[in-house]
Amino acid sequence: MPLPKAELHLHIEGTLEPELAFELAARNGVPLPYADTGELREAYRFEDLQSFLNLYYELMAVLRTERDFEELADAYLARAAAQGVRHAEIFFDPQAHLSRGVAMGTVVEGLWRALGRSEERHGVSTRLIMCFLRDESAESALETLEAAKPYLDRITGVGLDSAEVGHPPVKFREVYETAAALGLRRVAHAGEEGPPEYITEALDVLGIERVDHGLRCMEDPALVERLVRDRVPLTLCPLSNVRLRTVDTLADHPLPAMLDAGLLCTVNSDDPAYFGGYAGDNFDALRETLFLDEKRLRELARNSFLASFLEDDEELRARYLAEVEAYEFGA
Ligand SMILES: [Zn+2]
Repeated sequence: MPLPKAELHLHIEGTLEPELAFELAARNGVPLPYADTGELREAYRFEDLQSFLNLYYELMAVLRTERDFEELADAYLARAAAQGVRHAEIFFDPQAHLSRGVAMGTVVEGLWRALGRSEERHGVSTRLIMCFLRDESAESALETLEAAKPYLDRITGVGLDSAEVGHPPVKFREVYETAAALGLRRVAHAGEEGPPEYITEALDVLGIERVDHGLRCMEDPALVERLVRDRVPLTLCPLSNVRLRTVDTLADHPLPAMLDAGLLCTVNSDDPAYFGGYAGDNFDALRETLFLDEKRLRELARNSFLASFLEDDEELRARYLAEVEAYEFGA
């Protein structure tokens, strides 16, 4: 039985495995420039963030209908459950769909068809977080938030993703203020490729409650002190960092140093179909390569539930935390 954990940094579009991509392409009559799943799997071996993003957006073309989004989310939830995920806070990128003529309602209702029955079907509770593409304009983000208004009962929070460098958090001040006024929780990718100043700015200007990635905080001791003091969670994605060359190898990952510094770190899979593994695979890699012991692994699992947006269901959070404490390694 795998260690119970929450996944807090997961882009649903990044769970599109080659097999499902081909199935949806055939069903929707969308041509793919790859002969077969093997050739597509080869294309998943990119070298940096931009080449990954190019492929990521190209493949989204196969997602057209509510049923497609439902199947995508359901496939992820089944895989996550098998790796011990008990709670998932799932990102989606509406602008990437709206821009190719797929309506907000198709995306949200399609995802919800899977999320709404996930507890019963997979034993995984869920929340949905809508991300803005930071390389698009602030106006586009505001329009996207406006388009999401009829679906806010399905959406817990907002996030910020895609190419980081050159797109500082301050660009999205207004949209985050609007989101806060609507009662939405706030997170943002910061300090992955971008500098530690982006983390500080996302905290101060966007009012974020969790930092997605954030590993470059280690370059700024005062920022580390602040994140520790305020118990601001970081959603780290170790296998993603290796694949996108944010760190050279997993052995070089700062996670152990971050835990030693007292940071509230969590471990997540980001875009698991592209980065070589789901949440449990990330935990396994850390145990094998960074030699994290049971105490550290349990701490990471505990952190994931502490950092989750379960304030609306503290009873459930307490139940998950009890599962983590009761977990027997090697059993
Ligand atoms: Zn991400």
